[in-house]
Amino acid sequence: MKLSTFKKGVHPREYKQFAENKNIEKMGLPKEVFVPLIQHIGTPCTPIVKKRDVVKAGQLIGEGKGFISSKIHAPISGVVKTIDNFAHPNGSSGQMIHIVGNGEADWNADPAENVDWEKLSKEELIKKVNDAGIVGMGGAAFPSHVKLQPPKDKKIDVFIINGCECEPYLTADHRMMVEQAEEIILGVRIIMKALDVTKALIGIENNKPDAIEIMTKVSQSYNGITILPLKVKYPQGAEKMLIKAAVNREVPTGALPMDVGAVVNNVGTAIGVAEAVVKNKPLIERVVTVTGDGVKEPKNVLARIGTPFRELIEFCGGLKEDAAKILMGGPMMGVTQYTMDVPVIKATSGILCLSRKSAPVLEEYACLQCGTCVNACPMNLLPTRISRAVDYSKFEMAEQLGAMNCIECGCCVFACPSNIPIVQKIRIGKLKINELKKS
Ligand code: SF4
Ligand code: SF4
Repeated sequence: MKLSTFKKGVHPREYKQFAENKNIEKMGLPKEVFVPLIQHIGTPCTPIVKKRDVVKAGQLIGEGKGFISSKIHAPISGVVKTIDNFAHPNGSSGQMIHIVGNGEADWNADPAENVDWEKLSKEELIKKVNDAGIVGMGGAAFPSHVKLQPPKDKKIDVFIINGCECEPYLTADHRMMVEQAEEIILGVRIIMKALDVTKALIGIENNKPDAIEIMTKVSQSYNGITILPLKVKYPQGAEKMLIKAAVNREVPTGALPMDVGAVVNNVGTAIGVAEAVVKNKPLIERVVTVTGDGVKEPKNVLARIGTPFRELIEFCGGLKEDAAKILMGGPMMGVTQYTMDVPVIKATSGILCLSRKSAPVLEEYACLQCGTCVNACPMNLLPTRISRAVDYSKFEMAEQLGAMNCIECGCCVFACPSNIPIVQKIRIGKLKINELKKS
């Protein structure tokens, strides 16, 4: 059978063997958590607790400001020690609510057992998703309640679920599909009702045959849900690539999936929606793959939001002696960490620990004008020309060349024989372009 996919992209080695067959393990309560006020796309939260307040797990502690924002909840019960700046895993620092736990599994939410969601209106479903602080769990962390309310002039006719997990090493989505297929399909049905669509496609890369089999079996009982095996190629899980592969629609430059009638969510988000709607459970924990040849016992771990990476890595046996690099996310789009004292956030799909051998420092050479990066770019950009424009501070030219359309997938860097850090340059270019527009 010919499998669907998109044009260009790359085929990095998968390295899934570290954790793909490890069942999700629930970590015990962390001693303390650091909950960032910004861990989603949009405006930061405003804290509604203060120093020395006693909080219970699941309690609302930060309100979203404006339409595009997301609420945050206490991941553990305990006392607010402080609200201050701490190291953020996105590479900067940011305001966080620091809670010291009391070790008790108190729970603030209503003890709702299986809310009859089919009796709820679209508006009631969306409100529950908003109240629970659900965001895209695939890495983008876009507030889910916003995606469920497209403008009236955008007719959505298909809901696409991302089960690709195309980043090397990461296996959290794979394990969720194998172990929590019922919850995923429940979340998909809830989102279909909220979006008023009758068709859902779940894209899963063909290197996960067990997930394809289980998800197909569970989805068969419901109308309109189809499992779509996809070719293994990076970045198959990027929204625009997935839409092309699933329904053969091109999202034009500057446009959004809703402009071509599609909404895309990740499988983890579907579980979050199901738990929010049926169990009144806010987003206070997520599955994180702790993996790579730099950690002693790679695992897929259900961990509380705000847990320091250090505690999570210790739960996985600690670092090996030759560990040299830690990233949040996978090797293609992940963010290098300079301390293990950063917290798990809603977008933390993985913590990748690499040994010296797996993360060598590569010498950068001059551009060979070989065009390999151009052939790899799934967004049809000219990465070499954009990065050179940034080198020469020609930010207007970088913008004209489409820098803002770069999805920062890293295909160009992967393909470049001269080890040029093209994405970092384009990222700088995008920041400068935005700064110039504001000035
Ligand atoms: S230029 Fe951007 S979109 Fe194109 S390959 Fe590089 S990182 Fe990906
Ligand atoms: S792949 Fe690297 S060496 Fe080749 S054109 Fe692109 S930037 Fe230059």
